[in-house]
Amino acid sequence: MSQEVWIFAEQSLGNLLSVSLELLGKGLDLSQRLGGKLAAILVGCEVRALASELMDYGCEKVYVAESPKLSLYQGDFYADLLARLISEKKPEIVLWGATTIGRELAPWVAAKIKTGLTAHCTDLYIADIEGKPRLVQVVPGWGGNMSLEIVCNTNPQMATVKPGLMAKPPQKKIKGEIIPIANDLIENVIADKMGQSRAETIELVEEESEDTPLEEAEVVVAGGWGLNSLGGFHLVEQLAQILEGAVAGTRPAYDKGWIPESRMIGQSGKIVSPRLFISLGASGASQFTTGLEKSQIILAVDQNPKAPIFEMADIGIVGNLQTILPLLIKELNQKRL
Ligand SMILES: Cc1cc2nc3c(=O)[nH]c(=O)nc-3n(C[C@H](O)[C@H](O)[C@H](O)COP(=O)(O)OP(=O)(O)OC[C@H]3O[C@@H](n4cnc5c(N)ncnc54)[C@H](O)[C@@H]3O)c2cc1C
Repeated sequence: MSQEVWIFAEQSLGNLLSVSLELLGKGLDLSQRLGGKLAAILVGCEVRALASELMDYGCEKVYVAESPKLSLYQGDFYADLLARLISEKKPEIVLWGATTIGRELAPWVAAKIKTGLTAHCTDLYIADIEGKPRLVQVVPGWGGNMSLEIVCNTNPQMATVKPGLMAKPPQKKIKGEIIPIANDLIENVIADKMGQSRAETIELVEEESEDTPLEEAEVVVAGGWGLNSLGGFHLVEQLAQILEGAVAGTRPAYDKGWIPESRMIGQSGKIVSPRLFISLGASGASQFTTGLEKSQIILAVDQNPKAPIFEMADIGIVGNLQTILPLLIKELNQKRL
């Protein structure tokens, strides 16, 4: 066993995704506790230049797999290549960003190499389990606002983490080592899978959004199922507009079609860290609050005084949204005059 901690350094169009750098901070901590090395694996076409950026954040080794056929994410090639590399190099831990690609690739690789994978971890640490250092993977529980700690007894121990959940570490420039993956191996993987892929990435198009990305908004106004009594999100949108904030919501708000998936907060949605987070008619399930814990000030409105959201709110208003929301909007509008 190499005792290495690997980060899948995801890049898009030649740019490293910030989640890859965020994972390096946690990876460094884990590798130091294991007494091993922090390494990253870069896959793409002409991506070697990104290795120095990874080394600026403490990465000691960067495995680089390059081929024009890997320039766009191709699930079959990527999964097979990564499975072979992991089986050969035997890292102790592999961390993945829970991005669109990471969420597909990590379980695919886990299935190929027959190891476990814990999705959407909110924390990771090393603990002594039956005399051996193992990775403890913390995830929100399914009910009762509990956290669960998962330990996998197969290797490598693999986990995904949502973008934005972990802070990018301070720079710690080191002179790391670049390890190119042999062309033969890459060509073999591609040849083995050629013509067998059920899906192929043909083009990568970046979505243009007119709105401020949720992750960058200073004010986020989020609604939950409690908005049903108001017939939808129109007042949430009005409040967000007055405060020049972004609209967001809970899972039921997305299921109901009030917000697009990209505006859902939480374990399966976005992680935000605004100066002000306003939660309206959302009970405060841990799968939701995971996404807003980093907000500077949390204001919550709910008619249930025992709603768990009040346990984390800096300002709590117990009351019916049908009364509170129009009053709040009226007051703020008057202040603007
Ligand atoms: C694996 C998994 C992943 C999940 N991921 C996510 C996720 O990423 N994001 C997410 O949000 N959820 C997620 N969920 C679902 C989550 O567990 C909760 O079910 C969900 O967050 C609840 O949404 P809510 O607060 O809008 O609804 P509810 O829990 O039903 O809360 C509605 C609240 O509105 C209040 N209310 C009702 N009417 C009014 C009124 N007129 N005035 C004032 N208050 C009122 C009620 O008192 C209640 O507190 C996930 C669940 C699982 C199992």
